[in-house]
Parts: sequence; C-alpha cells; structure tokens
Amino acid sequence: MNAAAQAIRRRRHDAGERPFIVIRESTRACPPACPHCRAEAVPGRNPREPDTTAAKDLLHQVAAFGQPAPLFVITGGDPFQRPDPNELVAYGREAGVRVAVSPSGTPALTAERLRELHAAGAVGLSLGLDGSTAAIHDTFRGVPGVFRWTLDAWDTARALDMKVRFNTTVARHNPHDLPGIVRLVAEHGAMLWSAFFLVPTGRGRTLGALTTGEVEDVLNFVHDVGPAVPAKTTEAHHFRRVALQRQVLAATGDPYAEEPWCGYVPGSFPRSRELAALLAGPRDAEEGPVRRQDASRSHGRERSIDQQGAA
Ligand code: SF4
Repeated sequence: MNAAAQAIRRRRHDAGERPFIVIRESTRACPPACPHCRAEAVPGRNPREPDTTAAKDLLHQVAAFGQPAPLFVITGGDPFQRPDPNELVAYGREAGVRVAVSPSGTPALTAERLRELHAAGAVGLSLGLDGSTAAIHDTFRGVPGVFRWTLDAWDTARALDMKVRFNTTVARHNPHDLPGIVRLVAEHGAMLWSAFFLVPTGRGRTLGALTTGEVEDVLNFVHDVGPAVPAKTTEAHHFRRVALQRQVLAATGDPYAEEPWCGYVPGSFPRSRELAALLAGPRDAEEGPVRRQDASRSHGRERSIDQQGAA
C-alpha cells in the first residue's frame, strides 16, 4: 500500500452498524446569545422540552447498540440550565455508555458543578473557544466574562483528569487569531482542538463566510499545528484532501513541503518555523493570563494522518 492509500481513520467499529457518537440537544436555554448559534438559543427553558425520562430512554437505546457503545454527548443550548445532567451521566455509566457534556461558558459553569459531573462519571468536557483573549472571545460571544469562566472550567476539568475538547468556530472574526488560540490550547493541554467551520444556519446565517483562499489557509494551518496540539476539523471534510496533498508534497520533495507553508495567501499565518517559535515561546503578559501546564498532563501532542483526517 502506498502512502497516499493509507487509511485516514482507524475504525473501532462499523459505522454501518452503530454511530460513533450520539449528541443530544437537551435544551435551547442558554444565557449568551452568540451570533453563530445554530440552535438559536433563548434565555429560558421551554416547558415542553423532553424530560429526564425521555433522555434516559435515549440512553437506553444507545446502550442497546452493545459494546463499544457510541459516545453520548449532552449539549444544548447549555445543559447546565437543566437540573439533570448529573443524573443522566450516572444513568449512562450504569448502562455502559460513556457520557460527555458540552456546557456553555456561564456563571453556572462552576468548579463545584464540574466536580459533581465528574463524580457522576462524565468522561469529558467539550468547550467553545473562539478567541485567545477575553477581548476577542467575549466580544464574539456577546457576554463579558465568558472567556474567564471557560478558562477556569478548563483548569478544573484538567485537575480532575477529565478529557477536554475545544471547539473553535472559524468565522470572519478570528482567522488572524488562530495561532493565539492554538498556543493557548498547547499551553493548557487538551485532548483535542477542533477548528469548527461555520455552518450558515440558525443565527449563523448572517455571519459572513470565509473566502476560498482563507479556507485553504485555515486548513493548512490546522495541518501545520499537528506537532503542537491534537487537531482536527469539523464541518470541513476537505481537510482530508489537504492532509493528503501535504503528504504527497512531503513525499515528492516539493519546496513548499520542506518548509510547510500555511495556505495560499502569503502573510496570513506564520510559516512553520515562526509557528514553532510562537508555540514554544513565553506568552506576552499583556495578552492574557496563561499558565503553563505540566507537559505530562497534555493528553498527547503527536498527531497522525488518522487524526488529521478525522473531520
Ligand atoms: S453558548 Fe452555544 S448554545 Fe449558547 S448561545 Fe452560544 S452558541 Fe448558542
């Protein structure tokens, strides 16, 4: 088998038999009103939301797939606006289903609630990070403090040894900030960073799309940060094409591959050596509060073609 024909993703079970992941949107309630919100979240819960019994029934159906059961993710809106995340996590654990939770950055995202979630058996946490500073992230999310709440939750979850995944919505406001976001992820440590390409639906319909050149930039950038953070894309399956192109370029000795470049618009992103220096260097004190993590606590820094293509 030649290099280009290698499997892009390791399959742990047949997706024709059972899904890899089941994501339950548990509520539309969420305090922020982000401009990209696919769910078009609203401040309060709807009394007709599916109740705890309905959620347990779904978990029961997921458990019925057998082992390994799909990962079950409780999302929203903000699942912490409901009273039952801990109960559902514990129910899932009893049923043999791994449950992760995707809360929003709000005052409800406290260390105490995360400890309860962990004690109930939650295997992971998925958080949104759309900027490397409070100025960028809070402005995009429309609520002062979201950045701080998110970082505090990140530190608490890591201290509890929970797996933390970060999603960055890539939109007009932040391509220039992606190196800073990746540096933050590398410094704090995470199981996975995903560049989440905006799907123009819900409130996101009104956000402008990236140009094709910018998309190529971002995809090549995600490829280049692989040695620093475990990275993938969401809603950008053409990342597989970019990963394979870069593999072929590296194999054929193309001058671009000798110093992997980031996309087709010169100057948009740092070249590989600049990127390496950026990720290795100390953070400017004015840019924001960042504490370095013990390297042994960052869940894997290496990345393979398997992970690169797992969009
Ligand atoms: S935090 Fe998530 S669910 Fe809440 S408004 Fe923002 S995008 Fe929507």
